[in-house]
Amino acid sequence: MRCPFCDANNDRVVDSRENKDGATIRRRRECLDCSRRFTSYEQIEHVPFMVVKQDGRREEFSRSKLLAGLIRAAQKRSIPIKQLEEIADATEGLLQQVEEREIDTQEIGAFVMNRLRELDQVAYVRFASVYRRFDDIDAFMDVLKNLVQAERGRVSPLATTSAEALQRSLSELVEDDDD
Ligand SMILES: [Zn+2]
Repeated sequence: MRCPFCDANNDRVVDSRENKDGATIRRRRECLDCSRRFTSYEQIEHVPFMVVKQDGRREEFSRSKLLAGLIRAAQKRSIPIKQLEEIADATEGLLQQVEEREIDTQEIGAFVMNRLRELDQVAYVRFASVYRRFDDIDAFMDVLKNLVQAERGRVSPLATTSAEALQRSLSELVEDDDD
């Protein structure tokens, strides 16, 4: 930091103290040129990351909201919470790479769904159905078909190939069942 007395940019920190709420740090500095001391304050910069919805509205990205959505999608599945947290962290990491500090809700959705799909297909379908937008509708339908067959023990293609039947099975899967 530039010394306010002699303008030299050559100092050392002699003391650092956090204030009570941990939001600011006060540092005592000593100029190595003129030996005088001065104080600097450091503050956390809170600039939110914005999520752009389909209608153009912006909303602040919330890691906890995303995590809540993931937990909801993973209800009664055997996914460790740690893995859901990792998805939330990775999503936050993705946002931090975006210089404009805003990202389309679809882009976030696709990112999260890709990871969730590797983890658990039921959770993936639940999450995807909430997002209501699938990047690759064919891939999604394939997953759904396999899923419905596996979950319901159906082998007959007739039971799962019609869009209506899929829709029905999907809503059954997505709804909270109490069995
Ligand atoms: Zn100085």
